[in-house]
Amino acid sequence: MKYELGIIGSGPAGYSAGIYAVRAGIKTVLFDKGNGGGLAAVAPDIENYPGFPSISGSELMEKMKEHAKKYADILEYEEIVNIEKQDKKFILTNSENKTYQVGAVLIATGTEHRKLDASSIKEFEGRGISYCATCDGFFFKDKTVCVVGGGNSALIEAIYLKQIGCKNVYLIHRRDKLRAEDAYAKDAKDAGVQFILNNVVEGVKGDQILKSVTLKNVETGEIQSMDTDGIFISIGVIPQNELAKKLDIKLDKQGYIKVDDQMRTSMDGVYAAGDITGGLRQVITSASEGAIAALSSTEALGKQYPY
Ligand code: NAP
Repeated sequence: MKYELGIIGSGPAGYSAGIYAVRAGIKTVLFDKGNGGGLAAVAPDIENYPGFPSISGSELMEKMKEHAKKYADILEYEEIVNIEKQDKKFILTNSENKTYQVGAVLIATGTEHRKLDASSIKEFEGRGISYCATCDGFFFKDKTVCVVGGGNSALIEAIYLKQIGCKNVYLIHRRDKLRAEDAYAKDAKDAGVQFILNNVVEGVKGDQILKSVTLKNVETGEIQSMDTDGIFISIGVIPQNELAKKLDIKLDKQGYIKVDDQMRTSMDGVYAAGDITGGLRQVITSASEGAIAALSSTEALGKQYPY
């Protein structure tokens, strides 16, 4: 099959773009290095996507995937590791050196979890340290856990951990004010999450498995050690911009791809959508950007813009 548009990344932006592109008459292929859904797929609960008052990220993403599959070809576990521009075409190369030639590219590679830089964190990853409550929370039922971070994701993870039966859930945040929306803070308090503010993680200790965390109060300098069975780190995300860098596309200071209101990047024929463009980074804005980018790609492909 000869494809016209190659979409890289299958989160809400990629799926939505796949639907809109094929419906606009564009032969479209969607690549994903995993099995789709992006970071949204590991959100325990999504409560602000219209039409779904409460739905798990994995279920919503599964529904989007099924929908997108009706239209675009979705190639999973197909990691695109290189992009080159040749005249008006783009050559996409996968990790096994197979190439695809397309006339337009949509980068929807999203973000990945930011890692915490503190003593021995890496050593205990998978042995008490996790970046995903939905994936690993179950192992900590009836146990004590900490969530590090003060954004929406951290609060949602903390509420979820309480909900699945963790005995004690502590939220550790480096400032005295949360970044998260008030609604999540209220829900967390109501659920019994205990807040430890103005504290940073200095390091963790254990033997085969994690046993404790050392905290430093940023105001008083006081150091305290706390027993814990698990630590869920939720301190934000970083853009997955490696492919954009290969094309020398313009990025902002934080590494997100710069786009105009039609989701065009600084290179003709290359579009970007979803969390990789920064901003609000919601499922609904990603899906919306995917739709716009897909229709904008008609200009690079010499097709009629449908509206
Ligand atoms: P975020 O909003 O960027 O929050 C990251 C949190 O981690 C902040 O509280 C930050 O502290 C803290 N942090 C960053 N680096 C740290 C470090 N080295 N040590 C300790 N703490 C650190 O990230 P997020 O919660 O993952 O959310 C990402 C995006 O998705 C946001 O735009 C968010 O609104 C969105 N989101 C939305 C929903 C929703 O609406 N339902 C749900 C989840 C996520 P400071 O506050 O001090 O900077």
